[in-house]
Formats: sequence, C-alpha cells, structure tokens
Amino acid sequence: MKELEERILKDGHVIMPDILKVDSFLNHQIDVALFEKMGAEFKKRFANKQINKILTIESSGIGVAVMAARYFDYVPVVFVKKANSKILNDGVYHTKVHSFTKDNDYDAQVSKNYLSDQDHVLIIDDFLANGAAASGMIALCKQAGATVEGVGIVIEKGFQPGRQVLEAQGVQVESLAIIDHFANGQVVFQ
Ligand code: 5GP
Repeated sequence: MKELEERILKDGHVIMPDILKVDSFLNHQIDVALFEKMGAEFKKRFANKQINKILTIESSGIGVAVMAARYFDYVPVVFVKKANSKILNDGVYHTKVHSFTKDNDYDAQVSKNYLSDQDHVLIIDDFLANGAAASGMIALCKQAGATVEGVGIVIEKGFQPGRQVLEAQGVQVESLAIIDHFANGQVVFQ
C-alpha cells in the first residue's frame, strides 16, 4: 500500500536493529484517515472470504481491526487480552505467547462467549515479526473450533520468519507493507 509505505518512510524510526517505531500514526497517535484506507485495503485482499468476526490482540491491533470491520459489514471485533494472572479461569481459551518487543511471555486469553465453532475469523495485527502473536490467535481459534480465514498485517518485517511460520499453518497472510531490511537506520521495502 503506497500511502502506508510513504508514511513509514516519512515518520518511522528504526530504534533497534530489528524494531521500527511508528508511534506518530500507528502505535500511540492514530491517523484515522489512513486507518480507514487500511481497512478498505484489507477488504480488497480478503474479498473472496466469508468473514463474520475479526480477532486482534490488545492494544495496537484494536484500532486497525475496528476500521477493517466497517468494510466487512460491521462484523464484531474481539480482542485477545494479555494476562499475567496464573489463576485458571474456565470461561476463557488461553495460550502462552512470547512478546517480541518486551521479550517476555504472557497468557493470551479470549472469553469462550466471543469465539466459537460458528466463527470464520480474520486475524489482524499491527506488526508481523516472528509470528508469535498471530500464532497465538490461531491457537485460540483452534481451541474454539473457529475457522481462520486469513491474517491481515499492517507492517510485516520480511527479514523475520513470521510469514513462513503462519503459512506453514496453511493460513493466507496479507501485509499492507513489507519491509525487506533496514539499511543505516532507513527502511527498505520488498
Ligand atoms: P511477533 O509476535 O510476530 O513476533 O511480533 C508481533 C508483535 O510484536 C506485534 O503485535 C507488535 O505489537 C510487536 N512488534 C513486533 N515487531 C515490532 C516492531 O518493529 N515495532 C513495533 N512497534 N512493534 C513490533
């Protein structure tokens, strides 16, 4: 998506060898007009899929997921919660996920009330790195008996293995911008 790539070049900051900071439009302040266009682009990419629910993970995926939902006939958006509690709760599906940016593990949970075997799910997230967050969401869908129709990502770092990890699970992955590598603190797209 050309406009997204231009925005990343203009406002993105490479803050570590493998981390891009895009707080000015995606992860802290939200550019609503750009999000709207991203939502429309996700609809185009998954136009042939019957989707009745969008699943994302708190917090940065929520805004994008909500905008996308508008283009999928206003289907409900469910966001996975990140919990540290060790108390087991019968009412949730849960799975362990490794956080790429925080380098720790958390328990990803979703209520059994909001995910079921009737659901055809589009998973949405802001970044794809090693694929842990998206794989966690796929695992939650499997527990619920829901069908994963695809994974939609805003920014994929193509030099990390996330796409291979997800495609190995038989899932269609669509990313709006794919970064090939960082060169001297600059983003280079595929
Ligand atoms: P993965 O689970 O695929 O390894 O990493 C994806 C998750 O880590 C995303 O939900 C995102 O929050 C975070 N993440 C991974 N890489 C980056 C990055 O370069 N920049 C930012 N802002 N978040 C990232």
